[in-house]
Amino acid sequence: MREQHFSPPVIVIGAGIVGASTASFLALAGTPVRLLDASTPASGATGAADGAVSVASKRPGPMMTMARAGAALYRELAEEGLFQGLFHRRPTFLVATSDAEAEVLSDHSKALAEVGAPVRWLTRDMVADRLALLSRKTVAVLEVEDEGHAIGYSIVSRLISAAGLKVERNSPVAALEYDGRSGLVSGVRVGDAVIEASAVVVAAGGGAGKLIGLPDVSRPRRGQQLVTERAPALNAGLPGSLLSCSYLLSKKHQGAQVDARGYGVVIDPLDTGQFLIGSTREEGRTIPENDIEAVAHLAASAADMVPALGRLRILRCFAGIRTAICDGLPMVGRMPGVDNLFVAAGFEGDGICLGPLTGRIVADLVRGEEPEVDVSPFDPGRFAGRSIAA
Ligand SMILES: Cc1cc2nc3c(=O)[nH]c(=O)nc-3n(C[C@H](O)[C@H](O)[C@H](O)COP(=O)(O)OP(=O)(O)OC[C@H]3O[C@@H](n4cnc5c(N)ncnc54)[C@H](O)[C@@H]3O)c2cc1C
Repeated sequence: MREQHFSPPVIVIGAGIVGASTASFLALAGTPVRLLDASTPASGATGAADGAVSVASKRPGPMMTMARAGAALYRELAEEGLFQGLFHRRPTFLVATSDAEAEVLSDHSKALAEVGAPVRWLTRDMVADRLALLSRKTVAVLEVEDEGHAIGYSIVSRLISAAGLKVERNSPVAALEYDGRSGLVSGVRVGDAVIEASAVVVAAGGGAGKLIGLPDVSRPRRGQQLVTERAPALNAGLPGSLLSCSYLLSKKHQGAQVDARGYGVVIDPLDTGQFLIGSTREEGRTIPENDIEAVAHLAASAADMVPALGRLRILRCFAGIRTAICDGLPMVGRMPGVDNLFVAAGFEGDGICLGPLTGRIVADLVRGEEPEVDVSPFDPGRFAGRSIAA
């Protein structure tokens, strides 16, 4: 480990799950840190997410590998106490309703097994026993263990209070400031003021690209969701979340959607006895609002998968904006040519699962320590030629 001195403090921009995790792990390691947000903690995608901590839903490759480590960290922190009561461990069931979908699942199960995820096909008897609520149209079910669920804003709140941090709200960073001689980042501009920093972490979700001079690499993708009324008996009949094959496909074909609104169904039995049902993947949509067509489609698809859900009332709907990077991978790491500038953004639909792990990794990078996971596939240097600022 390199001896580091952090005066003035490190500045983390963005108090979503990624920035809050980074700032908290820095603070818990004794590094002075300030956490700034343009609005309030978890006011971006983090506050509008479902909360699946899931390897099952990831695309094969580095995201699946990283998710395995991300889910392991949730389990570890739940046992240690930091996430106690917030992380609910349970399996995910991937559901196919046609032979073609079963084939997709078969390929996916091999990729999951390769990263060591515990998977097993449920027999007809097992489905009847454990998932009796499922529609008779079900052709195949793959169970993935070691998964779980966590509400993003609760995790943010826990991290901030555990580290004794005070979020500097309503502090939109307009630009980064650089030292003309060294080329290092020297601070951030908020309104007319410049706040000095020994290092800066840009964890600003959809606002990150502009700050690091890469405004064109990220794109917004809206997700609409709904929550049903409480139905404890029904809820108890679902031992984990259900994920349709179309959801897997909508993630796999990011940017070239299988249908225009990227419909896919996830049914999450919540602790409250309600069901959270999501979601759409709407390319280029920046306004977090719902429309009747999408909500009706999601409700009908959920009832198609679990007919008993068709009897429940919808209590509320909400929407959030995911930030996706054009090549489908987030940016995590040091900015090329600027030793004290780091970025962690572009987690699309995976940031609740990957946020705490990313925060720990970026905190290690800032402190000059070797991170526990190889993040080279997410190196922001892959866009070096496209940089227009700094
Ligand atoms: C509908 C939906 C469902 C989802 N479901 C899941 C799921 O089941 N599992 C999962 O793992 N992930 C899920 N996600 C994805 C997850 O929510 C995101 O990947 C994650 O929250 C991203 O976190 P973040 O901290 O990078 O960004 P954000 O939460 O967007 O936080 C960025 C913060 O930066 C601040 N900011 C922006 N610009 C500036 C600036 N210039 N100065 C200061 N502050 C700034 C914003 O105010 C914001 O608070 C879902 C997302 C949506 C929308």
